[in-house]
Amino acid sequence: MSVARAEFDGAPSHTLDDLTAGRLPDDRGRFGPFGGRFVPEILVPALDRLELAVQEALSDPSFQRDLSRELRTWVGRPTPLTHARRMGEAWGATVYLKREDLTHTGAHKINNAIGQALLACRVGARRIVAETGAGQHGVATAAACARLGLPCTIYMGEIDVERQAPNADRIRMLGATLIKVRGGDRTLRAAIDEALRDWVTHPDSTYYLLGSVVGPHPYPLLVRSLQTVIGTEARAQHLEREEALPDVAVACVGGGSNAIGLFHPFLADADVALLGVEAGGTGDHLGTHAATIERGTPGVLHGAYSLLLQDENGQIQDTHSAAPGLDYPGVGPEHAFLESIGRARYTSVSDQEAMAARDECCVLEGVVPALESAHALAGAKRWAAANPGTRILVGLSGRGDKDLALPSGPRERERP
Ligand SMILES: *Cc1c(COP(=O)(O)O)cnc(C)c1O
Repeated sequence: MSVARAEFDGAPSHTLDDLTAGRLPDDRGRFGPFGGRFVPEILVPALDRLELAVQEALSDPSFQRDLSRELRTWVGRPTPLTHARRMGEAWGATVYLKREDLTHTGAHKINNAIGQALLACRVGARRIVAETGAGQHGVATAAACARLGLPCTIYMGEIDVERQAPNADRIRMLGATLIKVRGGDRTLRAAIDEALRDWVTHPDSTYYLLGSVVGPHPYPLLVRSLQTVIGTEARAQHLEREEALPDVAVACVGGGSNAIGLFHPFLADADVALLGVEAGGTGDHLGTHAATIERGTPGVLHGAYSLLLQDENGQIQDTHSAAPGLDYPGVGPEHAFLESIGRARYTSVSDQEAMAARDECCVLEGVVPALESAHALAGAKRWAAANPGTRILVGLSGRGDKDLALPSGPRERERP
């Protein structure tokens, strides 16, 4: 999507205090220099209306009541905090897993989808559009729309439809219209482009249900608000079980929604390190990974100013990850800000390391994590090697059933 309206004109100097005191994003949607709203003029009134609706809904007790009822009775919250005893022994650390894989539809995406679907009902939307990469956000959105009786169209890249076929089938089964995107990179980036294009065509009747903490203001704020339930629960559960906070909270970062959801309630706990793990893919060159924070540069993508994987001419680069949910050349502006002020650290692990960590979690804990979540496990394992004996909280963002048909799946790696 091209930029028809640029508001970027210098960098406000925000601090961690601004963030923990709830002053960020600021009234222009910025976290320091990052974020904002870089969209075609036609979307501005729709985003203004959404911003107002978000403010009203989040402070309205009746909205909060409806949301917590759905989270409790339909999503299956609170999700458990599992002590990963055998994996902890193997790593020389105390490891707890926050089990978003046990939510309805199998990933944290549902927390956001049901919240935004309730918001869409509140603003009288007649139809929902959404993008999906791994298919988890598409499934969550289709399910939430079915539950609330909202017609729903999901855009999914052709490559993702193939590599995540069970989720494509599930989306159709839940009554949504699935549109295969054959243009662009045929993965998540192209799917977002198409969903935005659809929204631009019908900005009044359509609600765009964005799946991560990316996009123009107020989406990063809205999605973060709906995902912080992960960290709020995990913080209380960890305190109860260990009578202490973890030394580090670790989560995988695609757009960054499960990570921001886990991190946010710990921001003011100065002794809790925050570690985001990106997709290192198969190599260091542009095109072979999706390590946006570690190796990206600032620019505008999908309506916000953040870090991006682009070449020296500003051309967005193709990305690679075995985990389709991490295969995205941008990242949420709040993560770019957390990195810039040093409150969170970001690293990347390769496809191979993630798969090894997934296998370890399967056989040591009896839990099959999504390949996305396996990146967090691999990052946690490295942290444990460098910081033996520490307490590690890992965000297990989703379950791995969707990955079983991938070429890198267990069958090809069977030992003789
Ligand atoms: C979509 C997805 C992710 C990546 O999205 P974030 O917005 O970075 O959380 C991670 N894990 C799973 C299981 C996903 O489906």
